[in-house]
Amino acid sequence: MSTPVIAQEVKGIIPAGSKGPKVMPIVIAVPKELAPGEQRVATVPEVVQKLTKSGYEVRIEHDAGTSAYYPDDLFTAAGAIIASSRTDLLNGARIVLRVQPPTVAEVDQLAEGTIVIGFMNATTNLEAIARMRDRNVTAFALELVPRITRAQSMDALSSQATAAGYTAAILGADNCPKFLPMLTTAAGTIRPATVLILGAGVAGLMAIATAKRLGAIVEAYDVRRAAGEQVRSLGAKFLELEINAEGQGGYARELTPEEKAQEQQMVSTAVARADIVITTAAIPGRRAPLLVTKETVAMMRPGAVIVDLAAESGGNCELTRYGKTVREHGVTIIGPQNLPARVPFHSSQMYAKNLQSFLVLLVDKDGALIKEFTDEILVASLLVHAGEVRHGPTRDLLIGGKP
Ligand code: NAD
Repeated sequence: MSTPVIAQEVKGIIPAGSKGPKVMPIVIAVPKELAPGEQRVATVPEVVQKLTKSGYEVRIEHDAGTSAYYPDDLFTAAGAIIASSRTDLLNGARIVLRVQPPTVAEVDQLAEGTIVIGFMNATTNLEAIARMRDRNVTAFALELVPRITRAQSMDALSSQATAAGYTAAILGADNCPKFLPMLTTAAGTIRPATVLILGAGVAGLMAIATAKRLGAIVEAYDVRRAAGEQVRSLGAKFLELEINAEGQGGYARELTPEEKAQEQQMVSTAVARADIVITTAAIPGRRAPLLVTKETVAMMRPGAVIVDLAAESGGNCELTRYGKTVREHGVTIIGPQNLPARVPFHSSQMYAKNLQSFLVLLVDKDGALIKEFTDEILVASLLVHAGEVRHGPTRDLLIGGKP
């Protein structure tokens, strides 16, 4: 297909009070997500309205929001232009907003100098990243946005982990043969179910809050002792070990072999008494820690459920199969794929707001696109720019291997 053309000088946000001639707006394009099972969209009508008011032209690919329940007519009413083809969408577009990383074929549709913003999942998308480098496309990876206070409104990892934690608790309850709350009825008294959450980061805390609201007894464990206070503030019991594995930047560090053995023992006892176990434990850049062995699964009650949110990075349970639900020893083990896509209306809304905040960093006070990415948030999240992979670990992966 022919490569779309980008205007050389683009300005977008008209400064307050300006009476000057209308400048050519920055065109933001939002394609329909094509990854299997993806229901989300990178912007929503409420955000489009704000962007168009700020002077951007927003184009939405036909049907891009339909599976998240944002039909084309709502986008039109918010001021967007609906593009009936990818070519019309991208022609002259300066910024492309996405949820999933572009495929190689999608990168080939982009004009040189286009700025793409979204999750880039570098380790599994090296080929597309190499193509963006070679085609002089600029890519910002939202998963690289630093977790500093100023960047909280742009933290898409957190907003989507919130959606995942909520959905995991609902999925656990849906697959559990028991009620979660205590019930006192004429037909007898029902004891509340016990839900155990392993890993009390953003997703874990949301799963705790949701399970509590459903009426379960909730226990949680995390290697970071600081998580204890947050767990207790949600009304759940925090299981403590004599370990504090808080590492750099608030993330967990890997445990020593002795610590792992101690952890295994405590976790097994708690897992064996739970009706639902939701695991979310992760260490950035590493395989997920193994917390529930197959021997521990064999100790669980028949009918118990494990929802393993770490399935994609290897799983916290030894028997998890990514993207599958398996039954072993009478226990249902769910390795879900893309949980935020199961609540696409709200996960898209939160994601769209993250992107709206991020976009503010890309324009100067006159509403023109900035030329130098010096802000620390932009520096950290800039994956590819001006024919170079700017993110060191991704560059190393590319050098060490293929494309
Ligand atoms: P994550 O997805 O990387 O990991 C999930 C949880 O698993 C973490 O709480 C981690 O401590 C825990 N974990 C790792 N190994 C474990 C093990 N062996 N056993 C039990 N638990 C284990 O984490 P996340 O949800 O992205 O959040 C990580 C940290 O970042 C948290 O401290 C969170 O509060 C913090 N955070 C800060 C900001 C901000 O300041 N803007 C935003 C979001 C998150």
